[in-house]
Amino acid sequence: MLAFDGDPWAGWQPLERSYQDIRDAARSDHYQIDVAQRHHRRSRLSQSHPIHSDREFDVTSALTLPTGSPLVSSPSEPPPGATPLPYELDRMLALRMPDLVATRRWIHAHPELSGHEIATAALIVRELAAAGLEPRLLPQGNGVICDIGRASGPVIALRADLDALPLTDAKDVPYRSTVDGACHACGHDVHTTVLLGTGLLLARLAAEGGLDGRVRLLFQPAEETVPSGAPEIIAAGGLTDVAGIYALHCAPYLPAGTVGVRTGPLTAAVDTVEVALSGAGGHTARPHLTTDLVHALGRVIVDVPALLTRRMDPRAPLSLVWGTVHAGTANNTIPGDGFVRGTVRTLSVDAWREAQDVIPELVRDVLAGTGAKADVRYHRGFPAVVNDEQATATITTGATRALGQHGVVPAEISMGSEDFSFYLEQVPGAMFRLGTGDPDSTIRRDLHHPGFDVDERSIGYGVRVMTHTALAALDALPGEGAA
Ligand SMILES: [Zn+2]
Ligand SMILES: [Zn+2]
Repeated sequence: MLAFDGDPWAGWQPLERSYQDIRDAARSDHYQIDVAQRHHRRSRLSQSHPIHSDREFDVTSALTLPTGSPLVSSPSEPPPGATPLPYELDRMLALRMPDLVATRRWIHAHPELSGHEIATAALIVRELAAAGLEPRLLPQGNGVICDIGRASGPVIALRADLDALPLTDAKDVPYRSTVDGACHACGHDVHTTVLLGTGLLLARLAAEGGLDGRVRLLFQPAEETVPSGAPEIIAAGGLTDVAGIYALHCAPYLPAGTVGVRTGPLTAAVDTVEVALSGAGGHTARPHLTTDLVHALGRVIVDVPALLTRRMDPRAPLSLVWGTVHAGTANNTIPGDGFVRGTVRTLSVDAWREAQDVIPELVRDVLAGTGAKADVRYHRGFPAVVNDEQATATITTGATRALGQHGVVPAEISMGSEDFSFYLEQVPGAMFRLGTGDPDSTIRRDLHHPGFDVDERSIGYGVRVMTHTALAALDALPGEGAA
């Protein structure tokens, strides 16, 4: 059950010292930054993106945090009402937090665009191999698959995405992007770091003989583009023997220390549609001798979305919103061609399947009698993320153990899209929202904002939730994961 009092920020205890102070201290003090230097040396793996040396120094000097600071220690200790992880994994997490924050900052400072996550994937492989695991790179070297535990039988998969957005980082922080035109503005650096941290804890658990079953880490490329990276992971065998799959996404509107969960639709299916019209152009004085293309485009723009509400089941609504339109150049000339483009969004799997037939039909219907010729191009994007009921219950169990019941709140539906849906078409699973908002700050920058940043305490919370969720999912498997 969810404990939600309507205000996820209520009862939040701010740190004695603000996180910005710690960042500033980390930036100016001369700490022994072996972790940072290790990452710094490895940053040369990718030659494809120029790194400015002055900015690189700033980044490197911020890649570690003072041991024992509130930032480092607080998220790794179980909050009141939470359940400790087995085999002293909480203590291990506390010790690893400086490394994890440094890793997140390195990834943030060295973003890689969709499909080109070579250095990020190489970093993950090194860290997992150093923990005694056997990670394997995707054929293109831009993603990683890694099993933990040697049990046969069903597998629980945990997924993160690696790619950055084609934006220029607008933040003034020491770990800001060193690559112009690339920025981790969707928090995938956090997703990657949380999954890495979870993998390290589970590797320790397996080494201690305490992992009853097998967990698979999926680090996928290219979540932000179409075509996206999830099908690459699936083609590489990422879902073989998988009985359930789990993922998270940063949620800046929830405070660090909380997660949002939801059964059913979490994100929308999103497709794109383009209607190109053509006809005989001519003088606006004689529309009867031409095809009035602007008039025809107007019909498509107004009537197709309106008629959709009468062709689709209103219990599963589908939205068509045009984003760009163009026709003509002169006020007294009827153009010979024009186009309109838009996006189609729905939370319903059935509506999504119907849309690609219904919309072209409606375009033809509304153009009847105008004389305009239509070329309709309907492009499939991502299906909706529809969280499985049982998998959501497993996340709720894991998150309650990790954060206490007050750390678990209902998640809102987003009409954005997520290619995690491709996995959910094949195996049951669920995605949750990881609160990354800084409760000490009034600034709330949304995902995809060039100034987007997170409260890094969310990394420790995310690791705890993911680890507890994986263990709860293994426990729920029939036969409890044959050893
Ligand atoms: Zn995004
Ligand atoms: Zn994202």
